[in-house]
Amino acid sequence: MSTPVNPFEIARETLRLLAARRIPPSPENYQTLYHEIAGTKPKTNSFPEEQLRSLAAALPKVSPDQLRLARQLDEAVKTANWADYKKYLTEFVAALAESQKLGWSELIADLLRQWEAKHQGLTTTRKRESVEHILTSSGANPDTLFNRLQSLLRSWGQGKANETANLVAADEAEPPEVAPITGAKASQTPLTELRELFAFTLETAMATQLLESPQLSSDAKVLAKDIRTAASPEQLQEFLTRLKRFAFKLELLAEDQAELRLSLLNLLRLLVGNITELVLDDHWLHGQIAVVREIIDKPLSQRALDDAERRLREVLFKQAQLKASLSEARDAIKHMLAGFVDHLADFAEVTSDYHDKIENFAAKISSANDIAELETVLGDVMRETRTVQINAQRSRDELRLTQQQVLASETRIRELERELEVTSDLVRHDQLTGVLNRRGLEEIFAKETARATRHDTTLCVALIDIDNFKKLNDSMGHQAGDEALIHLAGICRDTLRPQDTVARYGGEEFIVLLPETSLDDAVIALTRLQRELTKKFFLHANEKILITFSAGVTQMTVDDNQSSVIKRADEAMYQAKQSGKNRVVPSP
Ligand code: GH3
Ligand code: MG
Ligand code: MG
Repeated sequence: MSTPVNPFEIARETLRLLAARRIPPSPENYQTLYHEIAGTKPKTNSFPEEQLRSLAAALPKVSPDQLRLARQLDEAVKTANWADYKKYLTEFVAALAESQKLGWSELIADLLRQWEAKHQGLTTTRKRESVEHILTSSGANPDTLFNRLQSLLRSWGQGKANETANLVAADEAEPPEVAPITGAKASQTPLTELRELFAFTLETAMATQLLESPQLSSDAKVLAKDIRTAASPEQLQEFLTRLKRFAFKLELLAEDQAELRLSLLNLLRLLVGNITELVLDDHWLHGQIAVVREIIDKPLSQRALDDAERRLREVLFKQAQLKASLSEARDAIKHMLAGFVDHLADFAEVTSDYHDKIENFAAKISSANDIAELETVLGDVMRETRTVQINAQRSRDELRLTQQQVLASETRIRELERELEVTSDLVRHDQLTGVLNRRGLEEIFAKETARATRHDTTLCVALIDIDNFKKLNDSMGHQAGDEALIHLAGICRDTLRPQDTVARYGGEEFIVLLPETSLDDAVIALTRLQRELTKKFFLHANEKILITFSAGVTQMTVDDNQSSVIKRADEAMYQAKQSGKNRVVPSP
């Protein structure tokens, strides 16, 4: 048989031979036999091309590394260079394994360390923003995430505060090196991210700030949605116009809110001013009101408003109490006056009767003819006079009794007032020094710990105890001791920051809460307080007296509660006393 020449004949011959030789008709056998008949060499490398090309196309192409691999594989397929194909693929997988071995645990440990550490010009909020930014911008790619985080931590370590944007931007500048292949990914540029960031700002930062203005809040959300999809220049132009309108509305809202705030403040001032008129001569109340006034005259803050509210509540409570006492006292005086008038009337009646009788007796005396007659008249005069005398005495005694009753009720009212002051749930300030009392401390402690947790900031607690206070009391008198306490409270108020809290914890012990303060800074703040105390002498009877204190400071942890943290501060304070007083000891 002649050798078949056209492929058709070769194919037919191949099939015939397969049957004749009883070879299973698999593609491989068919191919081998076909080439044998045609006298050609099998194209051994034709098989993988299509499969490998489709494999290369199917691989994800998100990160720069993946894009690079896709390009390399594509190139290898084009030149049918399977050795390169294999090399690139194995290299990529090996690098992947390597990157999975990246020091994540060290990185996370470093992150925790740097998070806790203090960096100049870097708040925790700032750190959080940086990390969140990196997470959103590189969350899909562990390598990028790792590198960016690593660079961020390095920049924190070197004390560069504003590094995140640069990190991301510098990283973003890299992709052109791996020129986009698919085209679809070409749009995954900084512009896309910027849009996403803008949308995110509108949606989360803006919309959530506009809760009191639902229309603007939903406008912000719609704008966020639109900026994500706006693609053509026309759409962008339209978006810009709407954005301007939105900004204008925001401005109006801000003006409204400023006006509202001003009106509220004026209302508060008016109220406070009028309370002063009503509270007459209670010094404590006047002091409280002055403090409230001072607070509302300063720039507003949540803490200042809380403080003003607490003090105002006390003022209102005291005022109500005072009003009740005053009306009780007024009733007592009215009662006394009524009694007095009654007695005066009785007395006048008796005395006018007496006058008539005396006149009558005088007439009888002048017309009397004998001694016996005179004696009778004299007896009558004596009897009448005694009656008047008894009546007058009785009136005087009764008046005295009423007076005593009024005095007693006044004393009782005062006692009641004092008792109420001590036991009332509403009183949160120490009546002697004006700083918070224990109840007030409890309330603010809860607020500050919640705030510290919410903002993830540190809160330090200090316990201050005046040194040798008993000696001061003994040598200069209790009054001097009281004045020294007032002096210390005043210095605390003047020296510490407005957001710090001072509370009288016991006799000569004070608690200081220092929000957003590291332990080191808390020690510095208390040392400054000590220094101020040596500079601003306490004057008693024209004598300069130096007051010192010992303090223990500690930082609140997540496992702490009020008593555990104060216990720790107390232990540190005890150490300060043990090691010679007049010092500040941080709790380790
Ligand atoms: P140390 O340096 O160890 O703290 O000694 P100290 O004398 O300060 O402490 P101690 O606890 O022995 O005495 C505290 C004194 O404070 C006893 C108490 O009479 C006095 N004290 C407590 N409350 C008041 C107050 O309201 N007014 C006055 N004047 N004295 C007070
Ligand atoms: Mg003490
Ligand atoms: Mg003491």
